[in-house]
Amino acid sequence: MRWSDDSYTQKAESAGWDNPEKILAVERPDWQLDGACRIAPDAAIFFPSPGDTEALRAAKAMCGGCPVVQECLEYALGNNERYGIWGGKSTRERLLMLRAKRMLEAGEA
Ligand code: SF4
Repeated sequence: MRWSDDSYTQKAESAGWDNPEKILAVERPDWQLDGACRIAPDAAIFFPSPGDTEALRAAKAMCGGCPVVQECLEYALGNNERYGIWGGKSTRERLLMLRAKRMLEAGEA
């Protein structure tokens, strides 16, 4: 889906993404206050471009020393976060974890 897609824009507006007051009203879990990334000099490393292994490694290294890494990963898995590094795992890694969990729950593994 393209960002300029009209139906996407309508959905974003109905979700309140065009309203800064609604965006700021989103509750953040308390554990985020303890995240090591809150003081990261470059938060963009948590959203590396495809193939940017340097940023990916830097983000994972920071997650590796984060006191809330488990909470972060569980939050991302539970909320189906699609973008970025969460709990030291990339989007692809999280999708594989969710798939493995589904297979285990279905008795397929
Ligand atoms: S685990 Fe990584 S992404 Fe999550 S709060 Fe810690 S540093 Fe940030």
